[in-house]
Amino acid sequence: MNKKETQYKILQAYDRIVEDRAGNGRAERLHGYEQAVRHRSKFESCGRVLTSPYGCEVTHWCRRPACPTCATFWGRKLGSALAAACPDAAPDDYRMATLILGLVPRPEDAFDQFWAWRRSLGNAVDYRRRAAGIDRAGWRGFGAAGSLELDQFETEEFLRLGTNKQAQYRALGFEPERARGPQWVTTVHALVHVGTLGDDTVRTFFQGAAPVVHLQGLREDKDFIESAEDILGYAAKVSLVTTLSGGETRPWSPDAIASYVAATMQSHGRQGFKVLIRPTGLRKKSIVESALGYLEPMPVII
Ligand SMILES: [Zn+2]
Repeated sequence: MNKKETQYKILQAYDRIVEDRAGNGRAERLHGYEQAVRHRSKFESCGRVLTSPYGCEVTHWCRRPACPTCATFWGRKLGSALAAACPDAAPDDYRMATLILGLVPRPEDAFDQFWAWRRSLGNAVDYRRRAAGIDRAGWRGFGAAGSLELDQFETEEFLRLGTNKQAQYRALGFEPERARGPQWVTTVHALVHVGTLGDDTVRTFFQGAAPVVHLQGLREDKDFIESAEDILGYAAKVSLVTTLSGGETRPWSPDAIASYVAATMQSHGRQGFKVLIRPTGLRKKSIVESALGYLEPMPVII
């Protein structure tokens, strides 16, 4: 599905949510109606250059996780921020990582799962940067940036998924014989600065919270900043299709898209993360400050 089509489907989902909350002609509008109208209009004007009250021109970003325009723009920005944070690193020090956190019945649960994971990731890295008996220097050089991707399938089509996916989902505790209806797969794509820690340490670390972890080296034939931007631009992509076995795809149902879009309205526009490197921390003593902040709309800097 191309970007235009994706945008159109999301807009349709917003229309449907607005209509549902308009109260069907009754005098009372339902809770969340104004919010839905506001989100729809932000989404519609995303990427446009608007004139501010002070007369200067600003690009308007809707900052919705469901927006393909924002996803690419902010994903690329995240990539260049990570690359800039470790100017001396070689492309060899990086890996692309895919983590599957779990399967949940509602998209809201996937956002919750992602936020809980993001918070515990920050805490775990912070702990390793301070604790004795651990490779503190290695952990101070560790960095990661990435974002959430939601995959979706219907339990009834489980056997049509690729065999790899079937095995992974079963390993995550999913039982197709007992489950029903839509399933949402909380997936994280990230660019990881492995540095001196090595793949095994980082993989084991990630496996503490994400049962399925896949690490892969970068393509050598590309400029590093460019590939960092590409990877994170891709990681943040908005894809409203389910991939079945043999690469066959089917678009999400209008119901699935509407429940996803409704869930993003509660998400405050944030679905990325960034664990940053503070190389100066190696020299000073009090140092390993956990700078926690947001590079809107997605990442947290830990
Ligand atoms: Zn947008």
